[in-house]
Amino acid sequence: MGLNEKFMKIVFHEKFYESDYANDGASVSGRLESIMSVVGNEPSFEIVHPDFAREEDVLLAHAPAYVEAIKSNAKRYSMAMLSAGAAILAADIGISGEPAFACLRPPGHHASYESAWGYCVFCNMGIALLKLKANKMINSAFVLDFDAHTGDGTKAVLSNWNECRIVNPYAENGKLYLKEIQDAIKDISSVDIVGVCAGFDAYEKDMGKKLSTFDFYVIGDIMKNFAKRAANGRRFALLEGGYYLPDLGKNVLSFCQGFQ
Ligand SMILES: [Zn+2]
Repeated sequence: MGLNEKFMKIVFHEKFYESDYANDGASVSGRLESIMSVVGNEPSFEIVHPDFAREEDVLLAHAPAYVEAIKSNAKRYSMAMLSAGAAILAADIGISGEPAFACLRPPGHHASYESAWGYCVFCNMGIALLKLKANKMINSAFVLDFDAHTGDGTKAVLSNWNECRIVNPYAENGKLYLKEIQDAIKDISSVDIVGVCAGFDAYEKDMGKKLSTFDFYVIGDIMKNFAKRAANGRRFALLEGGYYLPDLGKNVLSFCQGFQ
C-alpha cells in the first residue's frame, strides 16, 4: 500500500457535535469532540459524511407509532435520523469489504421495536443490517457488542432473524473477555457481514472497569481477522457508549487501528 492510502472510513457529521437535542450522557457536550480531536487527525483515516436515514429504513426496525412519537421532538428526531443514516453508510462501506467506523449519536443498542432507554432512540445496528437484508445484500450477520451494557434493543430488533448471531461478552476481566470473544467466533466459518456495537464504557476508568486501551485494539484486531477469514473482510462498527472523556478518543483510535 502507498503512503497516502487510506485504510479506514470514519462516518461522521459536524451536526453530531450539537448537544442541545437531549439532556443525557450520550449527548453531553464535548463527548464527540474528545473522539474526533484524536480520530479526526489520524492520517490513515478518511472522514465521510452520512445522509439522513429515510423513514422506510427506520420502519424496518421500529413500530410506526413509535417513530411518530419520536417526531414530537423535531431536533431529537433529526439527530436520530442522521445517526441511523450514519449506520447505514457504515454498513454500505463495510459490505464493499472496506472497514468503517461510524462516530454517531444518539447511540442505538437499547432501542427496541417500540421503546428505548439508555440515551438511545433508533436501533442503528438493527436498521443498518435489516436494510442490507431487505436489499438482498446479506442473509446472515454476526454482531459483537462490547459496550458495558447488554445491547437489549439490538437483540430484540434482530430476534426473528435466525441467521443473525449476537454476542455480548460478560467476562469480568480483559483476559477472559478477549477469550470469550475468540470462543464465540472460532466455530463460525462463514457469515455475510460482521457488525460491531462499539461501546467504550467497559474501559478500566469508565463504569465497566475491565478493559484497557490495548484491549480495545485487540478486540478490533480480532474482529478484523474474523471478518477476513469468514466474511470476505466485510465489517463495520458503530459507536455506542463511552463516558470517560479524557481517554475516549484514544480508546476509539485504538479500536479503529486494530479494526482497519
Ligand atoms: Zn453502555
